[in-house]
Amino acid sequence: MFDNLSNKLDRAFKTLKGQGSITEINVATTIKEVRRALVDADVNYKVAKTVTDNIKEKALGRDVLIAVSPGQLMVKIMHEELTELMGGEKQDINLKGDPAIILISGLQGSGKTTFTGKLANYIKKQGRSVMVAACDVYRPAAINQLQVLAEQVGVEAYTELENKNPVQIALNAIEHAKKTHKKVVIIDTAGRLAVDEAMMKEIAEIKKAVNPTETLFVVDSMTGQDAVNTAKTFNERINFDGVVLTKLDGDSRGGAALSIRAVVEKPIKFISTGEKMEALDLFYPDRMAQRILG
Ligand code: GDP
Repeated sequence: MFDNLSNKLDRAFKTLKGQGSITEINVATTIKEVRRALVDADVNYKVAKTVTDNIKEKALGRDVLIAVSPGQLMVKIMHEELTELMGGEKQDINLKGDPAIILISGLQGSGKTTFTGKLANYIKKQGRSVMVAACDVYRPAAINQLQVLAEQVGVEAYTELENKNPVQIALNAIEHAKKTHKKVVIIDTAGRLAVDEAMMKEIAEIKKAVNPTETLFVVDSMTGQDAVNTAKTFNERINFDGVVLTKLDGDSRGGAALSIRAVVEKPIKFISTGEKMEALDLFYPDRMAQRILG
């Protein structure tokens, strides 16, 4: 994961090796290399600049302790900055409510339906009764895909094959969940290949009608800055609560993971790292920073 970035950062810090102290001059080269590495990783330029300005300020302001080389100190500062950039503390999903209603949004192909199955599996493993609902009225294959995943993880899938009104299906699903004493309902919605007005209107209407406990925005991390821009558009329209980054297993760059929080100001809550139902983790900014820095 993010191998290119890790290698470039490693090289940038090596230039400080063998230096006795951190000075304006030797830190400048490292900072420049770090900034380039971040931009090459498809991190938003403004974000990359802020991060490197912060690192520089911290590095020059801190005394190098005995037994800590300038290289080690820079890695430590970088770790702090990357952790902060990705949101600091981990943010869990809110499952309060009876039932808790989780609305899933995102573009087609982002991994929404796969995530819906994974999240159901994750919640079921916590010992809560959970149900998924298929509200994609345009693609019967998507409904079928959710049914297959639900069966795989052993949860009920609510579907209405003849109904073409996603708001109504979502409301009916919640009623059904109440009757069958489910603690959590996850509503999978229709996405399109690109942001369009009809999709935004539909998801906004579903959100208004069901008043979800959490609205999650699912996005393919491999799309880098496009992911960040799509997140921004969705957030402006539906004001979601958290981001799910998918396909991190195939992302060698890391731009979305690093900039989405700073640009959209919403936490990354989950990361998805494969097609299997178990390939889901809560997002820990400090662990991710650690992985990047090796
Ligand atoms: P949706 O259209 O947003 O519902 O997207 P899907 O859930 O159908 O996912 C699109 C494709 O991406 C499918 O082939 C999934 O198996 C695959 N996929 C989803 N999440 C991941 C992931 O984290 N890693 C990998 N490698 N593939 C994923």
